[in-house]
Amino acid sequence: MNLNDLALPAFEPGWVWLVGAGPGDPALLTVGALHALQGTDAVVHDALVDERILALARPGVELIYAGKRGGKPSPKQPDISARLISLAREGKRVLRLKGGDPFLFGRGGEEALALVAAAIPFRIVPGVTAAVGGLAYAGIPMTHRATATAVTFVTGHNLSGDVPDDLDWQALAGSAQVLVFYMALKHIDEIVTRLMDAGRDPDTPAALVAHATTLSQQIVETRLADAPHAAAGISPPALFVVGEVVRLRSGLDWLGAISGRVLDSDPLGLSEVRDAV
Ligand code: SAH
Repeated sequence: MNLNDLALPAFEPGWVWLVGAGPGDPALLTVGALHALQGTDAVVHDALVDERILALARPGVELIYAGKRGGKPSPKQPDISARLISLAREGKRVLRLKGGDPFLFGRGGEEALALVAAAIPFRIVPGVTAAVGGLAYAGIPMTHRATATAVTFVTGHNLSGDVPDDLDWQALAGSAQVLVFYMALKHIDEIVTRLMDAGRDPDTPAALVAHATTLSQQIVETRLADAPHAAAGISPPALFVVGEVVRLRSGLDWLGAISGRVLDSDPLGLSEVRDAV
């Protein structure tokens, strides 16, 4: 059997597909995203979409860059939605390609609502979000039964580019929480201060995971209190991860292992946990 036998939905003229491209590595594209790339007339993409993924688009497609700068209000958003609508009305098969997942901190919801208002038919193809792909490639499990009972994805920016003021810092500061901050670099001092003020242990393991799953992936392990300092040498896009699970990386850094790093055998004493369950 090959992909053509899967009876994937046809990409019809006049439709917009809102598709997640994953965090970078083309290996993390979904079959649906690849199918869309090969059936589209026009790709409207963000800065975060890896060039190797754009190169998978059908030859001759129109590539339209709709990148925005992170952290700034997005005056261009209505323009992007208007462009999607006009391309669809021209009878094009429009692929709106976004980094990660289109519905997670990606304004995909806003674009979909604009399509609904304009009566443009659309489909959503989810993608591997940066936290899922990035932590996997960093060798940091998102949860672990011994230390983490919840994981929360948090944005470091609200609409006006500030740390959101409606976050429940007390809840986020609980030690069983794994926190993955998107767009965290700009306000990392404030994020760290608020977490520690709310009672999170300054020694909590933390990591910055930048350019995750791309050829320039960069990971810095630190402790909560030192994260602003550790972030100084990091360029966006980056995730900020807080939680005991970061400790597991010393045993699970499979990418590092492939490139020859020596791994600790049992950083959290997990053989004891394993024996107990
Ligand atoms: N919709 C996207 C998120 C867009 S918001 C998703 O689901 O992943 C942009 C933020 O995502 C960046 O500031 C960064 O925090 C994160 N991000 C996206 N790609 C990333 C990557 N390859 N490595 C690290 N962080 C990434």
